[in-house]
Amino acid sequence: MPEIFQLLADSPPFFLAFVFFISLLVGSFLNVVIYRLPVMMENEWRDEYQSYFHPQQFEQQPKAAPFNLIKPDSTCPKCQHKIRAWENIPVISWLWLKGKCSACQNPISFRYPAIEAITALASVFVAFHFGYGLQGAAAVLLTWCLITLIFIDIDKMLLPDQITLPLLWIGLLLSLNNVFINTEDAIIGALAGYLSLWSVYWLFKLLTGKEGMGYGDFKLLAALGAWVGWQHLPIVILLSSFVGAIIGISYLAIKGKDKGSHIPFGPYLAIAGWLTLMYGSDIADMYIQWALA
Ligand SMILES: [Zn+2]
Repeated sequence: MPEIFQLLADSPPFFLAFVFFISLLVGSFLNVVIYRLPVMMENEWRDEYQSYFHPQQFEQQPKAAPFNLIKPDSTCPKCQHKIRAWENIPVISWLWLKGKCSACQNPISFRYPAIEAITALASVFVAFHFGYGLQGAAAVLLTWCLITLIFIDIDKMLLPDQITLPLLWIGLLLSLNNVFINTEDAIIGALAGYLSLWSVYWLFKLLTGKEGMGYGDFKLLAALGAWVGWQHLPIVILLSSFVGAIIGISYLAIKGKDKGSHIPFGPYLAIAGWLTLMYGSDIADMYIQWALA
């Protein structure tokens, strides 16, 4: 085992190839999380509601088959054909099967291989930026979590606590070792991240009577604050509005969605936070240069 760490440390190409293949496999697992975690949450809410308001019926109703991130095995949604190991190789199986179920020829969404490829490429990108070490490993982990959050938010308008809160703890823990920032900046970053969106939310609600975003967004920005520090939070917010404007305008241009339709904010925050972790200091320097010029 120590030999492989030595090799990873000594050879950047080997390190990047390693991150690429691990992240392809992880991307395949992220597809499962993106689809199943919201279903598990909905099941849990329904059970809680039932057991509270209809305890007798809840006691009598038959126990549902386990549904979690491991059970049951993945099947084709149309013909229930069990996905065998060779049909589950990231990206390659999808290409090999030409995007169809091997049993019933039902099309398999392009999203699955796309998420696997995005996970691998984005992970290699941060691994290249930070290099071998704790920074690189932490940034890859953050990338996996953010990709999961982005797609769950797009699908369900939801940023699960099961992901945002651990990200917050991990950010604070890393700061104990000064991995990206020091602990003081991380704690104030988490607080300022939460409170800034929380106050925007209430201001917006008091002025318009509408809810512009959800509590998941506050928790995500709190988590990002713990990773990038309070000093870089304005960059996260600015970048997210910028990313949001670009994606929002192109989305409206392509799909022509009507005004007032709710577009999730989480993906913009996630992308902005990811960029800020890598380039926050460069962006801040550029701004100072420009302000002084
Ligand atoms: Zn099928």
